[in-house]
Amino acid sequence: MTTRISHWINGKPQLGASGRTAPVHNPATGEQSGEVDLASTAEVRAAVQTAKAAAKEWRSASLSTRAAVLFAFRRLLEEHADQLASVITAEHGKVHADALGEIARGMENVEFATGVPQLLKGGFSEQVSVGVDVYSIRQPLGVVAGITPFNFPVMVPLWMCANAIACGNAFVLKPSEKDPSASLLLAELWSKAGLPDGVFTVVQGDKEAVDALLDDPDVAAVSFVGSTPIAEKIYQTGTANGKRVQALGGAKNHAVVLPDADLDLAADSIVSAAYGAAGERCMALSIAVAVGDIADPLVDAIAVRLPKLVVGDGAQPGTDMGPLITREHRDRVASYIAAGAEDGAAVVVDGRQADVPSDGFFLGATLLDRVTPAMTVYTDEIFGPVLGVVRVGTFEEAVELINANQFANGTAIFTRDGGAARQFQFEVEVGMVGINVPIPVPVSYYSFGGWKNSLFGDTHMYGPEGINFYTRGKVVTSRWPDPATSTIDLGFPTTR
Ligand code: NAD
Repeated sequence: MTTRISHWINGKPQLGASGRTAPVHNPATGEQSGEVDLASTAEVRAAVQTAKAAAKEWRSASLSTRAAVLFAFRRLLEEHADQLASVITAEHGKVHADALGEIARGMENVEFATGVPQLLKGGFSEQVSVGVDVYSIRQPLGVVAGITPFNFPVMVPLWMCANAIACGNAFVLKPSEKDPSASLLLAELWSKAGLPDGVFTVVQGDKEAVDALLDDPDVAAVSFVGSTPIAEKIYQTGTANGKRVQALGGAKNHAVVLPDADLDLAADSIVSAAYGAAGERCMALSIAVAVGDIADPLVDAIAVRLPKLVVGDGAQPGTDMGPLITREHRDRVASYIAAGAEDGAAVVVDGRQADVPSDGFFLGATLLDRVTPAMTVYTDEIFGPVLGVVRVGTFEEAVELINANQFANGTAIFTRDGGAARQFQFEVEVGMVGINVPIPVPVSYYSFGGWKNSLFGDTHMYGPEGINFYTRGKVVTSRWPDPATSTIDLGFPTTR
């Protein structure tokens, strides 16, 4: 039996009327589990109008009312974390513990947003001129939209909606059509937390829904997270239509391993960051850059760890790596292994030969050595459990390699030399840098985002930049006459 996955409009589920739907699968079994409605342009327009009316009311809610809703929402997320994680695993495939981790990271954005009374404080300058004060305030934009990818169906919406709503906006979410159910559970929890109807809306859909949001004059801002070609298109169309846009794109994250690195720490970290969530993370490590003579021991240390990874249904305890999101994507990732081998890379561990369940969209962990920048396994974002090792002679060559890449989301370095780590942090042209950690994880009170083709727009996601993105500044210059000169008796002495 398949479940119908609807929209969420004006505080309740609403079945789609476009007649268009898309199948949703459990990637661990390969079976269809649901059918998601795909909104038409008219349905998106109507949803935005409902959100617009709600935004008008919500911006008048006091800061303490908003904070109280956010505190309640956070508590509900915690109470429903297990249920939410099961929904994620059933449609995305990642293992349950990883899904819980995603929820925990998302909840931190809600925690950050509970500080909205502090975050929205403006500045004040007294006596700019005689009797004149100037102060700044930040006001909500109105209706803002979020368009999110399949790989974090809870965390990425929370990156956006917690701050957007705290700032007094109404938020319209267009989740990925590949794993849309978590969005409805989020909507239900917002509602239970006391958020007024219409402030959080879900329109399920595909390109048509996205285009409708980009064209709608009542959508003031768009936050996007997804692949680079779509991010670039969203940025161009949205800004051409006069909207604020922040569009986070794809990645090809490199980990540099210097000859003095702690080999076990580096290998453990790289395995966890390359193969966690089957490599379907924007912060996954997909290239290890081995500097000098650490290359052979590093390749061996990674290779020896891979057969120990348990690949299977993410809902089963003890599983380390789940399936990929769709059959097509699994086949595409597998085709990169073949292309790498053909281009001359050494296939040290071949995930196509791994002992994985035959149903579902599984692929084993793959390790390719002697990858070069000319190969497609190097140039393309594969977004699967495939790690390539590039061998270079020096630290400078490693930095040059990374800086020449079109993507610049995250990177990491493994070394015992503090000076080398500092030089790396100074020189590397990447938005997020890890030092002796698998990869920098999102931290809600620092904003998140890459450079170059990993981000279009100038605002990173959430944190302080998120508060700025979802509000606009207003500066007030005010003059009040000296009460002593008032014609009404205010009880002030007439002379001073
Ligand atoms: P995607 O670009 O295919 O889809 C993202 C969203 O865009 C979805 O909601 C989808 O419905 C919509 N979309 C897809 N095609 C569209 C089109 N032609 N026109 C308009 N809308 C369209 O991405 P995905 O496969 O869901 O997610 C994986 C990608 O997201 C990877 O590239 C990954 O690196 C990236 N990602 C980046 C970050 C980051 O912080 N930079 C975080 C998570 C994921």
